[in-house]
Amino acid sequence: MSRTGLYAWEISTLSGERMNNRLLTWNHIYPVNDKGVHQLTGFGCRCNPRIDYESKLIIHNAFDFRDVIEEANRIIRDNAKKS
Ligand SMILES: [Zn+2]
Repeated sequence: MSRTGLYAWEISTLSGERMNNRLLTWNHIYPVNDKGVHQLTGFGCRCNPRIDYESKLIIHNAFDFRDVIEEANRIIRDNAKKS
């Protein structure tokens, strides 16, 4: 059975994140087999993850979707240059 086009999402549990001098456990939810590498420490992943402070979840965005937006922006910029 083919599952292409579907993302598997994985949860990575990180202990030892330091915030306000307290050690907290955060869960990163990120797409596996994504085009780019997600930073699973801290909050500074370049996919601009959504951070849920209450549940201590860091929800990453798929780079594929982001790439589409970046590509669209590039095309818009290129078109703006031409006119
Ligand atoms: Zn990420």
